[in-house]
Amino acid sequence: RTAAPAERAASRNERRYRLLAENSVDTIVMSGADGRVSYISPAIVDVLGWTPADIEGKRISDFVHKDHLMVLDDQDTDDSAPATLTFPARHRDGEWIWLEARVRRLSGDIDGASYISNVRDVSGRKKAEQALEAANAQLQAMAATDALTNLANRRRFDETLDREWRRSIRDGTELALLLIDADHFKALNDYYGHQQGDVYLKSIAGIIQECIRRPGDMAARYGGEEFAVLLPRTSTDGALIIAEKIRCAVHDARIPHVKGTEGVMTVSIGVYSLAPADGQSAADLVKRADAALYAAKHAGRNRSRHFQGQALPETATP
Ligand code: GH3
Ligand code: MG
Ligand code: MG
Repeated sequence: RTAAPAERAASRNERRYRLLAENSVDTIVMSGADGRVSYISPAIVDVLGWTPADIEGKRISDFVHKDHLMVLDDQDTDDSAPATLTFPARHRDGEWIWLEARVRRLSGDIDGASYISNVRDVSGRKKAEQALEAANAQLQAMAATDALTNLANRRRFDETLDREWRRSIRDGTELALLLIDADHFKALNDYYGHQQGDVYLKSIAGIIQECIRRPGDMAARYGGEEFAVLLPRTSTDGALIIAEKIRCAVHDARIPHVKGTEGVMTVSIGVYSLAPADGQSAADLVKRADAALYAAKHAGRNRSRHFQGQALPETATP
């Protein structure tokens, strides 16, 4: 017998919905309140390698990376607005593929389905995002690093000084600064050439970096042939020990400098440490370390001096 018109219409509708679901470019998923998949469209094969038969009856969480399972809980946020979830899912050959699911919660459980999701592969976008993040991190590092010596640059030094200064005020701790200046560097450039001078600056930077050990310590290229070392929670005595360690290490490296003291490269170091108080500024710390450096130069170079109330050097008037 032939089908009644109502039956014919129902079977035409069924064919139409099946055609829609099975040819949708996005993968369509129906899942229950328990996270079990009751239907998944064949588009999933191209994305994850699994067939609908592999997935139907299993839990969505069986296919999601364990570190990202909590994103699934976001499904419960709102009844009306679809949620967007991004997570890596397991491909049949073991790879992780980034997926984005737009999830709509149905009002009530309909034939075992509480959620309808549209799922698509966003691994290409994710890769581009990750490459961009890596490039940004690299740019940021470059913007804070001195290209010649790989130490922190002046900008980063200023930022760190400001931060450590405020931290020292808060914690009531001392903050020490070393200003390190290469001796007779102009003569070295004139004799060996500027390029060789650059090589020497790199060596000095490497030695300074080797001499500081605590995580909060920071060495920077302050400018030209001058370096700065910031030592949080360090007294004048402690800072002088580090200064002498650096001075001796540079001297002991015996980098030839025919115009220098004893025929080798040396540095002079100014040291100052204080527990910041109201009415003082980070600039005072720099000024006093600089005055101490000036005193070290004056006393004959290749030495460390700490600030002992020396008169501040005249500031040049433009
Ligand atoms: P002092 O012992 O008094 O410090 O003498 P100095 O010659 O080191 O001091 P001065 O400030 O007169 O000269 C610093 C010289 O450092 C000037 C410049 O030739 C050299 N210099 C500064 N920046 C660089 C750099 O990036 N590369 C090289 N090769 N030389 C530099
Ligand atoms: Mg100088
Ligand atoms: Mg110098």
